[in-house]
Amino acid sequence: MNPILFRLFAVTIAFSISTALAQKPLFPQPLSPRIANYDISASLDAKGKTIRATETLVWRNTSRDRITELQFHLYLNAFKNSESTFMKESGGSSRGAAMDVGGWGWINIDKMAMRGGEDLKAKMEFIHPDDDNAADQTVMRVRLARPVLPNQTITLDISFTAKMPTVFARTGYYNDFFMVGQWFPKIGVYEPAGMRYATAGQWNCHQFHSTTEFYADYGVYNVDITVPKSFVVGATGLRERERLNGDTTKTLFYHGEDVHDFAWTASPRYEVVEDKWEHVAIRLLIQPEHRQHTERYIQSTKAALQYFHNWVGKYPYPNVTVVDPPIKAFGAGGMEYPTLITGGSIYGLMEGVKLTEMVTVHEFGHQYWYGLVGNNEFEEPWLDEGLNQYSETRIMDETYGIKTSNIDFLGYRLGDLESARLGYLGMPNPKIAPTRLNGWEYKAGGYGGFVYSKTAVFMATLERLLGRPVMDEIMRTYFERWQFRHPSSRDFIAVVNEITQKRLGKKYGNDMNWYFDQVLYGTEICDYELTSINNRRISKPEGVLDTQAKTDTSAASRLYEARIVVSRLGEVKMPVDVLVHFENGKETREHWDGQGRWKEFKYRGGDRIQWAKVDPDEVLQIDTNFLNNSKTLEVDSAPAWKYTVKFLFWIQNILQTSSLF
Ligand SMILES: [Zn+2]
Repeated sequence: MNPILFRLFAVTIAFSISTALAQKPLFPQPLSPRIANYDISASLDAKGKTIRATETLVWRNTSRDRITELQFHLYLNAFKNSESTFMKESGGSSRGAAMDVGGWGWINIDKMAMRGGEDLKAKMEFIHPDDDNAADQTVMRVRLARPVLPNQTITLDISFTAKMPTVFARTGYYNDFFMVGQWFPKIGVYEPAGMRYATAGQWNCHQFHSTTEFYADYGVYNVDITVPKSFVVGATGLRERERLNGDTTKTLFYHGEDVHDFAWTASPRYEVVEDKWEHVAIRLLIQPEHRQHTERYIQSTKAALQYFHNWVGKYPYPNVTVVDPPIKAFGAGGMEYPTLITGGSIYGLMEGVKLTEMVTVHEFGHQYWYGLVGNNEFEEPWLDEGLNQYSETRIMDETYGIKTSNIDFLGYRLGDLESARLGYLGMPNPKIAPTRLNGWEYKAGGYGGFVYSKTAVFMATLERLLGRPVMDEIMRTYFERWQFRHPSSRDFIAVVNEITQKRLGKKYGNDMNWYFDQVLYGTEICDYELTSINNRRISKPEGVLDTQAKTDTSAASRLYEARIVVSRLGEVKMPVDVLVHFENGKETREHWDGQGRWKEFKYRGGDRIQWAKVDPDEVLQIDTNFLNNSKTLEVDSAPAWKYTVKFLFWIQNILQTSSLF
């Protein structure tokens, strides 16, 4: 060890000791603005499937507006009857799970009052900002007698009763299994003028839709949960203590900082597995019958933690809870909540079908894209589901193999990015909608295909166009700049433009708006084709010539005009390379700006073109047809894609049940 290293070593030791001795709070400084803070005391009636709770909401007006009304989500009313917007949109089923007859759930506010001020209960009024459905009761507002002033903090005292639905979509119960999400009265986000798309101060508080549900401000949660003594509980945040109540119940106290939601689960059947990755405690709650999936859950959670840590930034929370729901409650699976995710071992019962891993990696990814970066999932779901799907393709393909990360079973192989491409291309009409659309507006389908799959594919394309170092700097910068805030699509694109300019100058023009205008806001497709190869023997000059060359018929003297034509079949325009391979083994690489309808490349010489390929490196993952990318003068060997296409139907079925997380 040289002296410099030794000194560094000594400093490190001293620092470690000093940090170990100092008892620091969880986060010495708040990480987020802490606008919406909740103290909730909840008691579960496991037989009646009901939760009674008191809630204290401390909310801060960080705008310069005098706010004259408040708006709240009452999510559980989505399950109140067949007339809710959620039930109408979903038809009573979601991701393959169906609502049980009579399994209704609802939330009732028993009391709501401004501390030291007016009683608000009589003023509650249901509103339906997204549709004409007067029967929907998932959003309510209260008009205030006295406005909330700039910088004023208000405290609301609320009591409520929540009847859990039978679980078919994310939240509810099955026998004695409870997944309790979207369960308490939750204030919307007040957006002052200039924030995201707001031109004047406004509440952003959407109804609960069958596809989208998340947008909330960050805060501190102190939640105590009373359950039967035999129940195992998992929740957002850290469990600080537990108390036996001297009857048949116990109470668990949870504390979460700088999160924007709180969810919990309870069941007497869970087995608990504890593990650790660096500073993060991993707690897996698994059904005994899924015990064989333990390592798959743990390893994929660690893989995701490691990848995000190296890639975009630190996971700041001290823990993550991974919940494995029972098979009969699989509608609760594949969900994200702050520091708590639900998996789906049902999807990966076969060895070689890595959907347990895929779902875990995906849901963990939401800790970043939705959790730490708090985009509006209602209005711009591509920013969380799409960026997350892109993240998932990278983690899965790099951890479990580019061609095998989803399926490696009975000779069938499929990687995660390949699967995203199939999800996009497998849609009946890949031009039916743009990717930037309110989540509930995919009336003719395509929510999964556009928001998840197409985004993953166009992000993979962008990565290949800009190069991975530039792409990674974009993702890191976006994360650092927007964590604990609410970015819009424009904010993401601004980061892309900034980093691209900084690293690549004007290689792609003044900005990358042309890219997002096409793939995000536009509906057209990208398809480049190698249209033709032509090798023409050029005749020797004939006729009366002033200088008569000596006749030479040797092969070496043959002259060809070799040509290829590449075409743009789609409306999307991308720069693209073309690789041309000659019979003598020589290769040349051409670049086309891809703007015109077609482009010819011509070569005069002694050699003929054997084959050519447009986009030889498959940069344009968004190209809807790889099969027409190359041509050869010899009979082509059967493309590997054929086998994948045969498999398409089966994969689509899986995607339909598993991709909408
Ligand atoms: Zn998701």
